Amino acid sequence: MIPFLDLKTEYKSIESDVNLAIKEVIDNTSFINGPYKKKFEENFANYLGVKNCIGCANGTLAIFIALKALGVKDGDEVITVPNTFIATTEMISAVGAKIVFTEIDKRTYMMDPSKLEEKITSKTKVILPVHLYGMPCDMSPILDIARKHGIKVVSDAAQAHGAEYNGTKIGSGSLSDITTFSFFPGKNLGAYGDAGAVVTDDNELAIKMRMLIDHGRTKKYEHDIEAYNMRIDDIQSAILDVKLKRLDEWNERRRRIAEKYNKAFEKVNGIITQYVPNYALPVYHLYVIQTDKRDFLMEELKKRGISTGIHYPISLPDQPAYRYMNVKGFQYERDLSKRILSLPIYPQMKDEDADFVIDSVLELIN
Ligand SMILES: *Cc1c(COP(=O)(O)O)cnc(C)c1O
Repeated sequence: MIPFLDLKTEYKSIESDVNLAIKEVIDNTSFINGPYKKKFEENFANYLGVKNCIGCANGTLAIFIALKALGVKDGDEVITVPNTFIATTEMISAVGAKIVFTEIDKRTYMMDPSKLEEKITSKTKVILPVHLYGMPCDMSPILDIARKHGIKVVSDAAQAHGAEYNGTKIGSGSLSDITTFSFFPGKNLGAYGDAGAVVTDDNELAIKMRMLIDHGRTKKYEHDIEAYNMRIDDIQSAILDVKLKRLDEWNERRRRIAEKYNKAFEKVNGIITQYVPNYALPVYHLYVIQTDKRDFLMEELKKRGISTGIHYPISLPDQPAYRYMNVKGFQYERDLSKRILSLPIYPQMKDEDADFVIDSVLELIN
């Protein structure tokens, strides 16, 4: 049996550190707004090379907080891609703004900067690239277009902890006004429950986001604004701190497996692998191939005990929730969701298991 990911083996490899970290938080009964949250925020900011990191409840609300802090509201427009998890677009609607889809690059599957400018109107407030699968978007042209039109950039990096664009980490202040992260358990950096973060170089935005997350607080019982409770807790923060120390090593292992897959599949008729541009150091949250025989392949791999996934099987314009938008075009994006298959990839995956996946895929495709 080859699982899609293996959090049990991962836990076994860090068990004593994690258990100690949890025990320390409980021993000190510092559950909320305690020193463990503060420490993780500092460590993650340092890791990314950004001035401010603020933990929050999850990666969905991180996007909500970012858009709120930038003042996005009713009547505004936010541009994003059709091939992301619905959390991205849900939060655009949650602040009252209109979702505007833009095309993806046919080789990287990430936001296509060359199609972006024609989507901008006088109502556009934010461009929201998604570094899906752990692949960094082409940020230079996206930032150029945003600056030219006075538009902010919010990056959804829920799948891209540690990914680099031209040697700079996604999350660094130079690559976006605000970057949002999810620490959902299965993400490259995952908590043992729900958690997320927003990061920014802008100190004023950081203060705003901190207030939005915690009742508009400036002091314990002084509230500058009415806001929300969207906090991260200290047990999750302490666990994340333990795992952050291993993130680079784990991402490196993911890249090693992806290289094996790439080498095996690159020149095979009937399989298309994701193109890796020169600017990109991906972290392979997911390893995704394209094939005409997707459903057949998925079924047959399952019979051999190999778990796979589809990210995502329905492109957002085709989702029942968005039928009201009556989105035209995006044929490539709609078709792509019927052709993609995510193969198992996780740091604890053994070479022989990756080889078994490769042999099985090659045999079934031919
Ligand atoms: C996981 C994910 C989110 C949402 O994060 P949660 O922590 O589950 O709320 C948002 N965007 C993308 C691209 C994701 O993969």
